[in-house]
Order: sequence, then structure tokens, then C-alpha cells
Amino acid sequence: MDLENIPHKVSYRKIRYPRIEFTTGELHFVLPLNSRHEELSSKHERWIQKKRAFIQECLKESEKREVVQRSGDEFKELVLSLIIKAADELAIKPNNVYFKLMKTKWASISSKKNLTINKLARCLPDHLVEYMIVHELTHLKQKRHNDHFWEIIAKKFPDYEALEKELFVYWFRLISER
Ligand SMILES: [Zn+2]
Repeated sequence: MDLENIPHKVSYRKIRYPRIEFTTGELHFVLPLNSRHEELSSKHERWIQKKRAFIQECLKESEKREVVQRSGDEFKELVLSLIIKAADELAIKPNNVYFKLMKTKWASISSKKNLTINKLARCLPDHLVEYMIVHELTHLKQKRHNDHFWEIIAKKFPDYEALEKELFVYWFRLISER
């Protein structure tokens, strides 16, 4: 599957840093409002090129990934047991766990400590499900993706960068299945 086949759009919003939003069928580059200025727009043009190259790489790798087959119940059981394990290791636990179909992320955690897991994560290998849970629970200690956050993550997952990339790769695996 080629990147050109994925619809993508660029839009501007009142944000500080450019970001990419994924839905299962669309790639969306969101840029800060002020990046319409010329010199900024060429900077963001380079950013988009870099991201597109990264996405292209993920797409290529995604063809080699196997989607894991699990029942909904098996998945819930796995998630709950991994939450108990991670909660023990991090000395922090979520209040509630919800399973929902989400279009833009694998999981999220709210300020009320409610953990939401994307039902699509049912197809992920065990180690990525575990990483995803530890990542979200770590946000209860550190909200933002700053150095402190990655320090905590690196204690358990020194190779977290590769794992973050794998989550992208699997996301594209799902896109290409549609
Ligand atoms: Zn995060």
C-alpha cells in the first residue's frame, strides 16, 4: 500500500506545535494558525515531508505484521491482568477501565484516572498491549510527554522508541485492512 492512496489534508488550528491526527481512513496534518507566514510554512513543509517519509516507512513495515486473533473476552482478560501488573509496578492504578472504538488513538487516560482502551488494540501483540497500558498509567505520574515521562518509561522499556513506532506500524496495518 502506498501513501498516495491514503487521503490526507492539511488544516490550521490555534495550537503551538504541528501535529498529525490519524483516523482509520485519513491522515490529517494540523498546523499552527501562524504557520501561514512564509518562513514558517517552509519550516512546516519540511516537517510534513519528514513525517510523510516516516509514515511511508511504517506503511511498508506494516505489510509484514501479523494481526493477532483474540476474542473480545480474551482481550479484556489480558488487559485487566496487565493493568494489575503495571499498577503494582508503578504503584498507581486507574479508577475505571473502559473499552471503546476510537478513531485516533490506542488508549487514553482522563484526569479522573479513567483508562479507555481502544477495542482495535485487540489485534496487537501482548508486548504492545502491555507497553500501551504502562504508557497510559505513567501519565498519572506525568501528564506530558516530557523528559521526566520518558525517564519513567525507559526504566521498564529501554527500547520505548521502537515500541512507539510499532504502535504506528500496527495502526497502519489496520488502515490497510479497510
Ligand atoms: Zn502519552
